[in-house]
Amino acid sequence: MRYAVFSDVHANLEAFSAVVKALEKEKAEGLIYLGDIVGYGPEPAGCIDTLRKLTDIIVAGNHDRGAVGMTDIRGFNPYARAAIEWTGAVLSDEHREFLKNLPLTQSIEENSTFLMHGTPGDPESWYYLHNKFDAAENFSHFKEMICLVGHSHIPAIFEINSEGMINLYYDSVEIKKGFRYIINVGSVGQPRDGNPDAAYAILTDDSLTIKRVSYDIVVTQKKMREAGLPESLIKRLSVGL
Ligand code: ZN
Repeated sequence: MRYAVFSDVHANLEAFSAVVKALEKEKAEGLIYLGDIVGYGPEPAGCIDTLRKLTDIIVAGNHDRGAVGMTDIRGFNPYARAAIEWTGAVLSDEHREFLKNLPLTQSIEENSTFLMHGTPGDPESWYYLHNKFDAAENFSHFKEMICLVGHSHIPAIFEINSEGMINLYYDSVEIKKGFRYIINVGSVGQPRDGNPDAAYAILTDDSLTIKRVSYDIVVTQKKMREAGLPESLIKRLSVGL
């Protein structure tokens, strides 16, 4: 099975459209979305509509739940909070219902793959998986071979062998029998690894590859300014941080 996997669109329809266009050539048989379709960006409704047409393998992110009052946004930084309050105010009832009904986790049994936005250890607390120590704690919290996550906006592939040794890759990995994986596929709409291009991944039975695609960042920034979103969120898109 060949899946396209993507996460953290964050209402950036320009970036999302570039990824959708790239996916047309990928011949994926399934699409997996790992959360945060809204927040930060200027087009939450357009992004929700696009996502719904693409797939129903979707999990909820903290911004999806924050926009509809299902998670406490007092822990968000002031800019993220301003953007999520703006998002909550512009969403239609239908889009709110869609976000409210997204599950926290999903499992694709035939591919031994578990999905969530944050961490398998505590998917509702929105912890981050930044390093090998974070990964080591979380491998015992799912039974599948592969766990796909989003949230940090930084692509990272953690591989553990039967003796508990962890390897970290950033671009691609060969999926091998006897190993297990926690994989962050990066962000479509707000990358934070220093590369401003939209990120997505292709997952097959024997490999995962992170791919990047450029989009017209200036157009998204113009729409954000028109919406009155915070300047710091607008500027960070140029540098991918
Ligand atoms: Zn996010």
